[in-house]
Amino acid sequence: MSQREAAPKGVVQKASLDAILRPSSVAVIGASRREGSIGREILRNLIQFGFQGPVYPVHPKSRHVLSLRAWPSVEDIPDPVDLAIVVVPQPLVVDVVEQCARKGVKGLVVITAGFREIGPEGAAEEARLQELVRQHGMCMVGPNCMGVLNTSPDVRLDASFAATQPLVGNAAFASQSGALGEVVLATARDVSLGISQFVSLGNKADVSGNDLLEWWATDPQTQVVLLYLESFGNPRRFARLAREVTRTHGKPILAVKSGRTRQGARAASSHTGSLAGGDRAASALFAHSGVVRCDTVQELFDKALGFSNQPLPPGNRVAILTNAGGPGIMATDAAVYFGLEMAELSEETRAALAAVLPPEASVANPVDMIASANPEQYRACTEILLADPGVDGVLTIFVSPVVTDPAAVAEGIVAGAKAGRERASVPKPVLACFMGREHGDRGIAILREARIPTYPFPESAADTLASMARFARWRALEPGEYRSFEVDRSRARAIVERARAEGREWLGVEESLALVEAYGIPTVPMRRVSTPDEAIAFAEQVGYPVVLKVDATEVVHKSDVGGVQVDLRSPGEIKGAFWDLNEILAGRGIEGRGHLVQKMVTGGQETIIGAVGDPTVGHLIMFGLGGVFVELMRDVAFRVHPVTDLDVRRMMAELKGAPLLHGHRGAPPVDVAQLEEAILRLDQLIGDFPEIAEMDLNPFVALPEGRRSACVDARVRLDPTGGKPRRRRGAR
Ligand code: ADP
Ligand code: MG
Repeated sequence: MSQREAAPKGVVQKASLDAILRPSSVAVIGASRREGSIGREILRNLIQFGFQGPVYPVHPKSRHVLSLRAWPSVEDIPDPVDLAIVVVPQPLVVDVVEQCARKGVKGLVVITAGFREIGPEGAAEEARLQELVRQHGMCMVGPNCMGVLNTSPDVRLDASFAATQPLVGNAAFASQSGALGEVVLATARDVSLGISQFVSLGNKADVSGNDLLEWWATDPQTQVVLLYLESFGNPRRFARLAREVTRTHGKPILAVKSGRTRQGARAASSHTGSLAGGDRAASALFAHSGVVRCDTVQELFDKALGFSNQPLPPGNRVAILTNAGGPGIMATDAAVYFGLEMAELSEETRAALAAVLPPEASVANPVDMIASANPEQYRACTEILLADPGVDGVLTIFVSPVVTDPAAVAEGIVAGAKAGRERASVPKPVLACFMGREHGDRGIAILREARIPTYPFPESAADTLASMARFARWRALEPGEYRSFEVDRSRARAIVERARAEGREWLGVEESLALVEAYGIPTVPMRRVSTPDEAIAFAEQVGYPVVLKVDATEVVHKSDVGGVQVDLRSPGEIKGAFWDLNEILAGRGIEGRGHLVQKMVTGGQETIIGAVGDPTVGHLIMFGLGGVFVELMRDVAFRVHPVTDLDVRRMMAELKGAPLLHGHRGAPPVDVAQLEEAILRLDQLIGDFPEIAEMDLNPFVALPEGRRSACVDARVRLDPTGGKPRRRRGAR
């Protein structure tokens, strides 16, 4: 995590990133005359790309580099310098940055490597650099990066040493890997993906991916954000910013996240802890912020082409148009697999299609025009399908037979798309799949020119369209409200502090239940008893049946060892159960401190409500169908803390077993409002006590309306290191 991220909110002002992405003048420190050197490449790129301001080479000896007047040091440059690109050898970097500070340079891009990535010595040097930058209120990309780019016509900044010049477009790209940067720019050019800005983040000593997200949120040229991430930096800030970019500004974020997270191994663990392992945290964070997650860089490009060139579909009903049966079936399978629905074509649409197609053609979706399909038929059918109100997007497939001219087909699709869009009442996307490249290249070029993305296979086209539909749906969802309840925070604090003072990680069952009760989550009447008679007295007071259970921190899952005796209906049963539990503890060499007796809750649905701290994304909130089989069923949903009321409702809807909550097979439906409130209260508890490493309420027995749902068992584990401080709740 960079220092900047650890600092309070909003430290990087927009103006300071402007110094890097919209500078009015640039110095290249370490500009070199040597052919093939990085310093020379950067200088050449700056000039060739047509930077809209002055460029000053800094060279210790030469008076000219690449025909530009050079200066011995940045301080010798007679005019103001906004941005300095630093390409000097590592031992000189700190000195050079000091000179920049004296010169009043605002932005730095440090290309030079040999910092944190090489070990502790490099890390120390990087820390010095970071300190300098902060002291002087500068803004720095890198070190160890390949530069930055802004294609905006009023800037035209190519301060990178990449060999490829980008096309102007609306996709911004941040890459944490420098090596990948070059490939990214070359690939973007190959597939005609236009770039607004490109930033190679390097070691992220100062400017992070999050800072860029913030900048791109409001950059008018950027409409799509592409990220190649190895880590999230500050995950909470990422979550908040990503939501802002996607929801408030409506711009999709597509991300490849490498280096999947691993949960630290634990000797004993709560249910939530063991269910949250692996990659679920990153997935939850992406789902939470509407980020389109891509597994590969290839997929990132495929999808970027759709998002950056086509409107989002109004729904998920696709029409497939093809001149070959096989690919049509492939596309249909892929569409359904990725969650699209095959559009039901209207009577009129089918009649209109039949009027332009031969009788052997199929006018149901997928529309198979058969191999004889000509450019005019492509045009007419594309238009007819787009105009159908039951169609949200069209996927056009062309398998090039020798007799048909692919360029003419492409022109037909372009014309059909234009006409169809004019007839449709809402914008709809058109994607194409051109198979048989050999003589399809001309066609592909024509489609790209018209901003219709083309794919070599139908699967990637279908996948792209499905992601676009999902994003559109997500963006339209109401975000919901963060809720805040009146709670007994000081009582909760006292419980946590006592465990801390005693050096305990795990809270006992009684303490855990007291903690959730302090946050207003209902529990059942309970008492610690040391004799059967005390248990019987309690049962007579609250009413039979009761449950007797062991409470020893050594026993994580009580029922696993027979430590829970339910449905005790008489003094005799209580006595028997009491001695049974004593024996179980004695057999395990555990010193008994008495047992817990609880009122028994009858009926209802057992659910689990949990939270777990994750090293990458902060806390996750979990909800699922609970009880002792939860790990077996794994029917659980995760969200990133903090959650809104609507997040909670969506978690509930996500469960395979959701019907069990809504009255399955004659059982009365549970009171969802009580459940929802319990989850939100737990979320609030986590916000107030980030030192809770993991906890779960299992089961929280959800009961029908009119009865009081209650938590009958809880586990809480504290983070021995105390957890991280965090911003107040309510920040999105
Ligand atoms: P553990 O999860 O450690 O095994 P629990 O206290 O959750 O122990 O008890 C195990 C199971 O016993 C619960 O999932 C639930 O089915 C049942 N149970 C426990 N206490 C009660 C209670 N007060 N009312 C109803 N059922 C209970
Ligand atoms: Mg339990």
